[in-house]
Amino acid sequence: MTLLELADVRAFYGRVQVLEGVSLTVPEGGAVGILGANGAGKTTTLRAVSGTVRSTGTIRFDGKDLRGLRPDQVAALGIAHVPEGRGTLSDLTVRENLRVGAYRRKDAKAIRADVDYCLELFPQLADRIRSNGSALSGGEQQMLAIARAIMARPRLLLLDEASLGLAPSTAKAVYQAIGRLRTESGIAMVVVEQNANLAFTLVDSATVLETGRNVLTGSTAELKGMDEIRRAYLGG
Ligand code: ATP
Repeated sequence: MTLLELADVRAFYGRVQVLEGVSLTVPEGGAVGILGANGAGKTTTLRAVSGTVRSTGTIRFDGKDLRGLRPDQVAALGIAHVPEGRGTLSDLTVRENLRVGAYRRKDAKAIRADVDYCLELFPQLADRIRSNGSALSGGEQQMLAIARAIMARPRLLLLDEASLGLAPSTAKAVYQAIGRLRTESGIAMVVVEQNANLAFTLVDSATVLETGRNVLTGSTAELKGMDEIRRAYLGG
């Protein structure tokens, strides 16, 4: 079953068109990567889904047309966006940030259980539970941003450059936790990542964008076997 379908999506900042027809299919429980150089349109593709940039074309989630919906309406359907730069709230503690993630929910007992699950998934956050967002390291902020998204109990997670600015070992730990989340929760994911080696540890398939268009799409195994992917993205 297809959960998210993008077909011929074009997106615009004012009059400037930056997506020239992007397509993407995410099956229920699947994880799909978006690779590509700076400025290729990866972030904008996620924004088109979450309703934060103007777009045309087809964007369907669970059979519903998302175009024209406000970001809060998209979120209410079960899509959580972890933006580049993380967007955690610096004046709130880790625990308060997690509660913010659950603000649509009323099930207090399940919310507490989900906080416990997030702290198990990211043990570093458990040690920082009373710290303000501003006091966290980059890696901890990234973990908190993901945990806050989990607290909304989404069906689809949009992850933008989760490894950006992190030490390699921290980036690896973050991706291991996301992989565990995927296995345990079945949340579907769209994973924007410049580090293809990391993305390939998580996703089943990926598409490569160049100047706002798909130039290659395939399973992780297919892409890893392609010379142009190895040269451009895998350092080989
Ligand atoms: P990066 O890794 O640098 O974020 P990306 O592949 O995610 O790259 P986008 O951020 O989607 O690329 O940007 C696509 C194009 O849109 C770029 O040319 C960028 O300069 C332009 N762009 C991005 N945000 C805006 C904005 N708010 N206003 C105008 N142009 C923008």
